[in-house]
Amino acid sequence: MLEDRLNAMKGDLVEAIRAVVRIPSVGGAEEEGAPFGRGPREALDWTLEHAKKMGFRTKNVGNVAGWAELGSGDEMVAVLGHLDVVPEGDGWSAGPWSGELKDGMIWGRGVLDNKGPVMVALYAAKALFDEGIALRRRIRVIFGTNEERGSKCMKHYVESGEELPSAGFTPDADYPIIYAEKGILSYTLSLPFASSGKMAVTSLSGGVAANVVMGEVRAEISDPREHCRKKILGLAAKWKGPEGSALSAEEDGEKVRLVMKGHPAHGSRPEEGLNALACLADFMGGLKLKGDQGDFFRTFSELVGYETNGQALGVAVQDDVSGPLTLCVGTVTAKKDRVAFTVNIRHPVTMNADQLDEPLRAALDKKGVTVDSFSATAPLYMPPETRLIQVLQKVYEEETGQKAELLAIGGGTYAKTMPNVVAFGPVFPGQTYKIHEEDERWAVEDIMKNLSIMAKVLLELSR
Ligand SMILES: [Zn+2]
Repeated sequence: MLEDRLNAMKGDLVEAIRAVVRIPSVGGAEEEGAPFGRGPREALDWTLEHAKKMGFRTKNVGNVAGWAELGSGDEMVAVLGHLDVVPEGDGWSAGPWSGELKDGMIWGRGVLDNKGPVMVALYAAKALFDEGIALRRRIRVIFGTNEERGSKCMKHYVESGEELPSAGFTPDADYPIIYAEKGILSYTLSLPFASSGKMAVTSLSGGVAANVVMGEVRAEISDPREHCRKKILGLAAKWKGPEGSALSAEEDGEKVRLVMKGHPAHGSRPEEGLNALACLADFMGGLKLKGDQGDFFRTFSELVGYETNGQALGVAVQDDVSGPLTLCVGTVTAKKDRVAFTVNIRHPVTMNADQLDEPLRAALDKKGVTVDSFSATAPLYMPPETRLIQVLQKVYEEETGQKAELLAIGGGTYAKTMPNVVAFGPVFPGQTYKIHEEDERWAVEDIMKNLSIMAKVLLELSR
């Protein structure tokens, strides 16, 4: 019985996950033979070696990706996962690189995102072959090492002509099934920022990344006139922004330092955050700064401000499959008479980049805003009637007894890197396993549920 074989794999699977979690595979600087750093390369080598020992045919694809395959047939079905991880950060109650087993869970950075699921896929495929089930298609587990920093690994896989799957999934998001992923437009925009007049912004910077809502921005205003500095301090003390915002101001010689706090949120859900630059622009409006600097804060408030739907930019669109367009302001930096900020847009799956880029550029142009850089990632949409979606739904419902709802998300997973793939699992609805946070962990019970689901999906897709 397949079920018995899967259960008997528990010990080996748990040990394999613990072993690969112990490799600190945070992306880093390029080294000889390791384009994304030493750690990701080590995790790649370990996984290829382990798969080989399990009986897979393997290949290292340019030291950035790899695959392990079983079976025969013209077509191939695939599971896509990644071996690189985000930095461990602080505050762990178990060693982040320990792979410790406690309270029925494996603890460590990457256990769920995403090394654990890669191991589960290998064992699920192996179980089908050990069971001697006749399959018409090959099963390939494809693993990359740059998912957290741009998925250049999968780009390399595709561009170097490696085989593409006839169907597949990436267990690197949530259950049930993600059939739609919004398109992404990333802009860096800039405006003149020369100072004129005695009151001048001498420093401005905020945000941590383009895909995170700016949670904090710092500015320094210099003014040789004491009464003007006092006025800024007075206005700051009285300023009342939207709920959740906070402004602090302190005098330092001829300068006033401002720290404006908003609230960070993931770039795909900006409506859950509060953009600190919008708050600051709001406050600056009251200072009557002259010239370029005053114009910048005014223009920003007019074109973006607190909006997260692109209304003032003329791109507030939506569709029934994936909902409204969202807009996230991530970072801002002033340098040498110019100020630049990033805008990260997630647009509905039924539209393409050009339909939005054109009106947006027209709106920017009218206000003298320059586009310094632009990139677009196409949306993904897998219609519910495709066989892949039907198989995933059937297996998920049989295995969990829950309805397999189809989800649309604003994010971008590996599913976008090649055709015929969607994100499926490994996190069940309602679970919080602290991905990208301290104490990332995965219950052995859920690992085994995932093993069973993956084995049955691979069986259905490959027979
Ligand atoms: Zn991931």
